[in-house]
Amino acid sequence: MTTLTELGLSKPTMSTFTEFGLSKHAMSALTDAGYTEPTEIQSGTIDIISSGKDLLASAQTGSGKTAAYALPIVSRLQRSASKPRALILVPTRELALQVLAQFKLFGKYTNLRAAAIYGGVGMGEQIRALRQSLDIVVGTPGRLIDCMTRNLIDLSNIEVLVLDEADRLLDLGFAPQLRRINKQVPKTRQTLMFSATIDSSVASMVNEFTRDAVVVKAASKNVEPTSIDQKFHHVNEYGKDELLLKVLKDIDSSSVLVFTMTKRKATWVKNRLRNANVMAEEIHGDISQNKRERTLKQYRNGEFAVLVATDVAARGLDIPSISHVINYDLPNTASDYVHRIGRTGRAGRTGTAVSFISQDQIHLVRDIEKVMGHSLDGSPLAVRKSTGGGVRRFRSRRYR
Ligand code: ADP
Ligand code: MG
Repeated sequence: MTTLTELGLSKPTMSTFTEFGLSKHAMSALTDAGYTEPTEIQSGTIDIISSGKDLLASAQTGSGKTAAYALPIVSRLQRSASKPRALILVPTRELALQVLAQFKLFGKYTNLRAAAIYGGVGMGEQIRALRQSLDIVVGTPGRLIDCMTRNLIDLSNIEVLVLDEADRLLDLGFAPQLRRINKQVPKTRQTLMFSATIDSSVASMVNEFTRDAVVVKAASKNVEPTSIDQKFHHVNEYGKDELLLKVLKDIDSSSVLVFTMTKRKATWVKNRLRNANVMAEEIHGDISQNKRERTLKQYRNGEFAVLVATDVAARGLDIPSISHVINYDLPNTASDYVHRIGRTGRAGRTGTAVSFISQDQIHLVRDIEKVMGHSLDGSPLAVRKSTGGGVRRFRSRRYR
């Protein structure tokens, strides 16, 4: 068994970035980025990462976990070498691009080379990047394995392996791929795992990937940020479209993210919105990767108001303008709920999450309550009769 040291930072440690012994290149990039103080999870992990220890870190969505690992990695690698030394695994293509952008931001005063290796696009550009001796590879497991089997990538010099959204990568869907990748990276490398939600269900996988990992949990009591105002509507399936239009009408926002259970439903909802003259786009696994990237860019730029998505957009995406997340359908798992609503209320901003609860999904409410550690309104929703479109409004602050 791995010995786990529970740090459980009980009070936010007041610190500055200067204490961490980061390289001067990284410090200059930080200043340019306008980061003045480290976030709690950054304060609690940067030193540990620099010391070379394995790490299992959890902190709320939007709390700056990317920089917590990207800064010490950029500082440690300093300058370019011949083979990749850092490998960052993420569950989605869009997240690979976003994490790559953070490495480019923090590495801008270095000659470190970084690239994203992900599926759905031609391999040409990625092959060219791999031939150019990369230092940092950010990848999704599928395409990375493709590159491994074609001998396009040599992972024998990897010094740091990061699993961002670790619980997702270690769950059953990705586990076989992760094990294959694990065989190709040196046993001696450092392993860092980050997520807003890591529980004991992935413990044995964590032990497969880490040695004597230090466990750091940000102190915040709630799994979900208190800056997110969570609302719940009981509605029957047929009333969802009308309710969505009504909710959207009351929202004065340039960026709303709507989640549906399936790809088909995402298309359906997008079309319904367009018919009602709402500028909407869709993003999910049936949309070509080029279109997904274009859509996301336009969304970031505020070119349309409502993005309808499946859970491909649930994890990691950092789009500060998103003011509202609407769960047209509840997600299948409670951790997906936490990640979905975490697309708003990031980095201390406020946000609103609105969830539609239909009879057939009412059982999911209990799971969500369990993960969040508090009931949605103080009484068990699961036994309450549906009120057919009634609105309940809860501020998570009340439950702290
Ligand atoms: P997480 O991975 O924890 O969900 P991200 O790493 O995506 O969060 O960061 C969320 C946002 O906070 C990003 O826009 C990022 O640029 C910003 N951010 C991170 N650290 C800091 C900091 N120390 N000061 C200011 N902004 C920060
Ligand atoms: Mg993240």
